[in-house]
Amino acid sequence: TPVPDYLADLLRNCKAAHGGELADYIPELASADPTKLAVALTTLDGVIYSAGDDEHEFSIQSISKAFTYAYVIEELGLQRVMRKVGVEPSGEAFNEISLDKTDEQQIKPKNPMINSGAITVHSLIPKAEKSCRAETVRLFFSKLAGRELAFDQEIFHSEKETAFRNLSIGYSLRNFNILESDPVEIVESYVKQCAINVTVKDLVNMMSVLVNDGILPRTGERILSHKTVRQVLTVMTTCGMYNAAGDWLANVGIPAKSGVSGGIIGVLPGQVGLAVFSPKLDRYGNSVRGIDIMQQMSRDMGLHLLEGV
Ligand code: GLN
Repeated sequence: TPVPDYLADLLRNCKAAHGGELADYIPELASADPTKLAVALTTLDGVIYSAGDDEHEFSIQSISKAFTYAYVIEELGLQRVMRKVGVEPSGEAFNEISLDKTDEQQIKPKNPMINSGAITVHSLIPKAEKSCRAETVRLFFSKLAGRELAFDQEIFHSEKETAFRNLSIGYSLRNFNILESDPVEIVESYVKQCAINVTVKDLVNMMSVLVNDGILPRTGERILSHKTVRQVLTVMTTCGMYNAAGDWLANVGIPAKSGVSGGIIGVLPGQVGLAVFSPKLDRYGNSVRGIDIMQQMSRDMGLHLLEGV
């Protein structure tokens, strides 16, 4: 079957996947339309296919963590980033106020895919004189997506007003000097990073740089070094699906990242990038139908990393 028909079939078949709840700790997310469903795919050379509600915009949320991590490694070098944030899976919920205290000299968040790590990574973005770090992120994401992305102001304000948990993570990070400046400013800017609006097509465009070992296929420009891409894909593999990372690796078997608005991305380096969207989440905060579709695609296309090794 041609790819577009295949994708449309996938969506039809997964309509039956029930269950899950809308995220409601960000009040504005609770008003999402739960029937929205979309899938997109990029090939190695950046050809894009999509189906369903592929023009529907949603806030990128935690999927942003993977790309901001890439940006910061590229700007500061891996060593400096590693001093601030580790790469150990936490096995905990994404919003756990969690710090690795094994080395007392170097207390740090366990990995960049949970909030404590992502807030720290956000703080490492070199601060531009006249704009917040979130704006730097928006410009970087727009470059990858190949169009100008915008902040969802409703989502941003809604989350900012209720960001008590992330603020407590921020204060805790500041207490250990992991954050080196005002935690409130950093957390608010991190929340804004999460409120950048994307479609599934934007996501696969952004991912094409990860599929293609750091080169943006649309322009041929090298954006990330091989080392950066490998690092990002590594933490996506071990930590991208929070405390469901093991299940995901067993059943789908590719580096991935999910977000609470209902998106999931998955990458098979050198082959394909996949993105799905459906707002209802399981208890780990991962999209129920999204997982269903990703599992199906992994099976159909034999994507599991350890398949046929
Ligand atoms: N902005 C959300 C938060 O920090 C992102 C979490 C997520 O997508 N899992 O809580």
